[in-house]
Amino acid sequence: MICSACQKVIIDGSTYCYNCGAKQGGSGAAAAQTPPPATHAARKLMRSSTDKKLGGVCAGVGNYFDLDVTLVRVIWLLAVFCAGTGLLLYLILWIVLPVEPLYVPVASQTTATQ
Ligand SMILES: [Zn+2]
Repeated sequence: MICSACQKVIIDGSTYCYNCGAKQGGSGAAAAQTPPPATHAARKLMRSSTDKKLGGVCAGVGNYFDLDVTLVRVIWLLAVFCAGTGLLLYLILWIVLPVEPLYVPVASQTTATQ
């Protein structure tokens, strides 16, 4: 058989070309393998457990939308003082959103025995 990438002759039935390393699909099924789209689907809207002033909602929203946390807080405060809807939204998200799990270092468990 002939490698589909470098066009060199390789052993029949090979899964990988030993000349260039290209995967040999045979029927071209390997080309159908597509990586999952890196979108917001991978991320989850959560309250931040590390960066928080009140409930961590602003930090969580800032992280989710790739915004500066301070900017989110300023906009949110403006919304609170202008209409009062921001406060209501904050309280709703505070109740609804799950808290981001805290990172616990494994080393702290092993040193306790000394
Ligand atoms: Zn090749």
